[in-house]
Amino acid sequence: MAKIVIIGGSFGGLTAGFELKRLLGNKAEVTLLCDTDKFVFVPSLPWVSMGWRRPEDITIGLEKILAAGGIRFFPEAAVGVDADAAKVITAAHEFQYDYLVIATGPDLGFSSVPGFGPYGGHTECIFTLDQALKTKKAWDRFLENPGPIAVGAVQGVSCFGPAYEYAFEVDTELKRRNIRHRVPITFVTSEPYIGHFGIGGLKKSRSIMEDEFADREIKLITNQSVEEFTPDEVRLKDGTKLPFKLAMFAPPMAGVKAVFHLGNPKGFIPVDANYRHKNYKNIFSVGVAIAIAPPEQTPVPTGVPKTGYMTEHMAKYAAETIASEVLGKSLPKTGPVGALCIMDMGNTAALMKAYPVLPPRKTAELKEGKRYRWAKLAFEKYYLWKIRRGLTGLP
Ligand SMILES: Cc1cc2nc3c(=O)[nH]c(=O)nc-3n(C[C@H](O)[C@H](O)[C@H](O)COP(=O)(O)OP(=O)(O)OC[C@H]3O[C@@H](n4cnc5c(N)ncnc54)[C@H](O)[C@@H]3O)c2cc1C
Repeated sequence: MAKIVIIGGSFGGLTAGFELKRLLGNKAEVTLLCDTDKFVFVPSLPWVSMGWRRPEDITIGLEKILAAGGIRFFPEAAVGVDADAAKVITAAHEFQYDYLVIATGPDLGFSSVPGFGPYGGHTECIFTLDQALKTKKAWDRFLENPGPIAVGAVQGVSCFGPAYEYAFEVDTELKRRNIRHRVPITFVTSEPYIGHFGIGGLKKSRSIMEDEFADREIKLITNQSVEEFTPDEVRLKDGTKLPFKLAMFAPPMAGVKAVFHLGNPKGFIPVDANYRHKNYKNIFSVGVAIAIAPPEQTPVPTGVPKTGYMTEHMAKYAAETIASEVLGKSLPKTGPVGALCIMDMGNTAALMKAYPVLPPRKTAELKEGKRYRWAKLAFEKYYLWKIRRGLTGLP
């Protein structure tokens, strides 16, 4: 029986785990390690920060769903991987593996800018449940005494969508409360132009987003680095100082500590077309944990987003590859992954498609419309239903 260990219990780890069990049944012992005992539907975290979702609406206990899928679960953080000895180390155990799947997502780089982040810094973030709940508290305090808001993404960011979502949702909620006129909003980004999203070339994304920000009277500052966050100012590299009562900025990402040594200088894992580690044949990696080189050098550094949809596809390819090897079949043919993502805009939404993610692309577009917001709302319910049942074979 093949011993397969997975690190990470989110989009990548769960998809890989359920798919491996579906393909291999009792020919594999699948063990999943996660540093938390809950799956959090990350795309809904901006809604938690606005008070539009409660944590219990978007979280699922891992133990029950993994047991039902025949997957052993240990709610333990990996502290290291000994790739030569083929074992994962936690504080309490060592897990020997024939195959390892690394789906550990990102480490968030708040130390990249002085004063940055919700843990000892002066800005909020919405990338984890804990941060989204802190941001909700900051929002409630802000509403008692409103003032300027600064939202954005610092240099080196790859996941820009949540910053856009937050700016649009704040604008929508302030209008609902009839206090939008009292709140100047500024959006600052390292992207060379608005609507670039770290990949560029999404047809009319630039003009659609420019119009949207103009209609909403959100001031735009693009192609900028942040030098420092003080308790009440964002200080930009060009000397601009933006006062704020509330600031939410997206951070750059790196690989997590436990697997950093297996990665590139940023700790992201280099993989081949089957999501296999370039140096270790029995190690696979999927999702945010992998290395993807940006398609172009932007004047201020940016990275390539790794979305949930991309992550699921990577996890399926990795699972199929491992299963083929265990069953002695020829390796599956994989293709490049595409991005399909709906960005909430508070009262409307934008659909983004890029296939493949990196150019040259067959399809690339961004379209705005209320129907995409309905689709996003429905997708949240569908995905939670699907993952609760381990039905990762569904689209
Ligand atoms: C706010 C926000 C909104 C987003 N919205 C969208 C969207 O609308 N659509 C979309 O397609 N994508 C969206 N994304 C991107 C999407 O969330 C990611 O692509 C997806 O979460 C990646 O999945 P993953 O499994 O690679 O990593 P993650 O979801 O980051 O999961 C990593 C897992 O590994 C665990 N872990 C980490 N370190 C260890 C360790 N040492 N030991 C054990 N376990 C560990 C973590 O607890 C977690 O369970 C959004 C991202 C953010 C931050």
